[in-house]
Amino acid sequence: MAIVLNNAILADIDPIGVETGSLRIEGGKIVARGSVSAAPGDETIDCGGAVVLPGMVNGHTHLYSALAVGMPPPPRMPGNFLEILQLIWWRLDQALDAESIELSAKIGAIEALHCGTTTLIDHHASPNAIAGSLDWIERGIAAVGLRGVLCYETTDRHGKDGRFDGLAENRRFLQKCAASKDGRFAGLVGGHAPFTLDDDSLGFLGQLAESFDCGVHIHVAEDPCDEERCRREHHVDLITRLDRHGLLRPRSLLAHCTHLDEAAIERVRSIGLTIAHNTRSNMNNAVGYAPVGKFKCPILLGTDGIGADMFAEARSAWFKSRDGHAGISPQRVIGMLAQSARRASDSLGVTLGKLHTGAAADIVVTDYRPFTPVQSDNVVGHLLFGLAARHVRHVLIGGQFAMRDRAIISCPEAQIRDAARLATERMWQRLAAI
Ligand SMILES: [Zn+2]
Repeated sequence: MAIVLNNAILADIDPIGVETGSLRIEGGKIVARGSVSAAPGDETIDCGGAVVLPGMVNGHTHLYSALAVGMPPPPRMPGNFLEILQLIWWRLDQALDAESIELSAKIGAIEALHCGTTTLIDHHASPNAIAGSLDWIERGIAAVGLRGVLCYETTDRHGKDGRFDGLAENRRFLQKCAASKDGRFAGLVGGHAPFTLDDDSLGFLGQLAESFDCGVHIHVAEDPCDEERCRREHHVDLITRLDRHGLLRPRSLLAHCTHLDEAAIERVRSIGLTIAHNTRSNMNNAVGYAPVGKFKCPILLGTDGIGADMFAEARSAWFKSRDGHAGISPQRVIGMLAQSARRASDSLGVTLGKLHTGAAADIVVTDYRPFTPVQSDNVVGHLLFGLAARHVRHVLIGGQFAMRDRAIISCPEAQIRDAARLATERMWQRLAAI
């Protein structure tokens, strides 16, 4: 049965534009756009003249932190970025087990769905439960109906065994995805950050990415400590070190890049790398502001684990670009949303982020009926200053309703929330002992 979305303001983000019309959805894809009439047996949805958008893609996130909301405070106030990791996140990730990992993914995906986010590019860590962890994340996301591009963040923080377990989990998941190619899940090769990876580890990551012809998803220069430690311990700059070990592949995804200098930025551009910008996380960690105005490469927008509200993240990215004198246009900020969708499309082998014929039917129907004129040359103003997650009414993923009239129908949301609360209590007890 086909679904016809009628009477909609179709707001495109790639390229940016607006058209009033209808969409016909069949077989998981958009099969017609414009003036579409329903056939007998079709389900027709009257969008009431409201804005319809493509499903949003979160370009860099950490579902494992979904159950961190309200977590017990660290033993003392972190004084810098390294201490934020040591006192908060590197304790939380050790407390995760299979149950809390899957529930983290379910809760993170539910929160995303309410915001119209339909695909998550995730970066996972659970040092005491590595083998199988990407399957638990996959199961959690799939239960809610979203898509995911997953990896395990390999690190040397737990010795050689921990490193090899991380590499093995990436390899196992990549093999599984290569066999299924279902358009729902795909893998990248995950690495934590250069400052927690020795040269051998970087080499293994590069080789693994090469053998699967995929990219490496890694934090780079989030804080000045990454570059400083690289120069001090390896006597080379960060980007050269990553290049030497084969990590700078066209499909690699470098998260943050908050502290790259002009020469490094030029090399990133010349290789055609992709960067994930995470405005609110960078502010929360007080690590500084990424030079987004200087990057000439594709920039994705991510939340870095602070929910999955891409409307709020885009608005913050715009505010921060003004506050930080980045000199970028509002179109460039919306372009970050488009780039996140392009990157996920490349991994998943489906077309996301578009409302065109042939694209995957990942669609957000809002109840946002603009009270000022909307056309192609001002829709970015509506996206940044008008639309918000509260306007998300229906969400379709692969042509199926996952949320309808704000009620999630893909999974028992209330039951999952109850289960998460109980699992979190147990997880926080383990956390207290770490
Ligand atoms: Zn991150």
